[in-house]
Amino acid sequence: MAKQQPRISFEFFPPKTAEGKKKLLEETVPALNALDPGFFSVTYGAGGTTRDSTLGVVSSIREAGIDVAPHLSFGGDDEEAVGALLDTYRERGIRHLVALRGDMPSGMGAATQLVYANQLVEFVRERTGDHFEIAVAAYPEIHPESRSYDSDVHYLKQKLDAGANFAITQYFYNVEAYFYYLDQCAAAGIDKPIYAGIMPITNFTNLARFSRNCGAEIPRWICQRMEGYGDDQESVRKFGLEVVTQLCQTLVDSGAPGIHFYTMNQVEPTRTIHSNLGL
Ligand code: FAD
Repeated sequence: MAKQQPRISFEFFPPKTAEGKKKLLEETVPALNALDPGFFSVTYGAGGTTRDSTLGVVSSIREAGIDVAPHLSFGGDDEEAVGALLDTYRERGIRHLVALRGDMPSGMGAATQLVYANQLVEFVRERTGDHFEIAVAAYPEIHPESRSYDSDVHYLKQKLDAGANFAITQYFYNVEAYFYYLDQCAAAGIDKPIYAGIMPITNFTNLARFSRNCGAEIPRWICQRMEGYGDDQESVRKFGLEVVTQLCQTLVDSGAPGIHFYTMNQVEPTRTIHSNLGL
């Protein structure tokens, strides 16, 4: 029997400049839309700091007739403000969301109480019924603030039970961690799809720094290889493509339900990896 093809999605962040927004909307989105993804998504700055720019980019993508999911968190907002944003998304024909607790904007300390993602999912369902398809975040290598492996799986189940349709993982390079996580989630009674989040490697130094804080590990053999290349960007690029293509191929072969690319607003290397997979 033919294996199911994974649902493909591409994530962007809202650019800070008018030039960045023009490039995203006029070059990156059309180039990646040609690959016929299931949907695009657009991130939401910690604490709602990109409320207007996320709304702006999402609206422009939707106006081009493309399915797009804004990421959303309460941040420092109250129910009225989040409800008003949901109403605006509905009016603009948005039918997908990625619901998150999010993090504190740096420098804000513990000034605001963060609202857990399960509570946001409950709020969205209460207010808008089944209008939105909702995704939530999952962590095969476990969220850095979790008390334990099992508690993190428990809270993933809680947010899916609150009405989310599927989960998207934090990026990972240890494919065994993802497979083990799927088994643990299934054993805990989770029967909704868990899409694999994939971070193509563009800038290794930035990726290594970012990974330390977000609950994703870069295996030692990849670090060793990358560090050995030093400033040889062509070798970094080639090795990054090889590693991530292989990772995705394993996921496709195993019947992963979805692959979500963190594109960093770049067409490459996401397009080449997608093409290598022959999807
Ligand atoms: P939660 O699911 O609420 O979990 C947060 C922590 O609390 C976990 O340790 C969990 O085990 C624990 N927990 C969960 N529920 C409860 C509960 N009810 N009681 C006690 N403990 C609980 N960040 C952004 O700022 N903007 C984005 O656009 C963004 N997009 C992302 C997209 C994806 C696919 C992923 C994987 C992450 C994204 N993030 C984004 C990062 C995310 O916001 C952070 O990882 C954040 O720290 C946790 O958000 P969450 O929704 O996973 O939180």
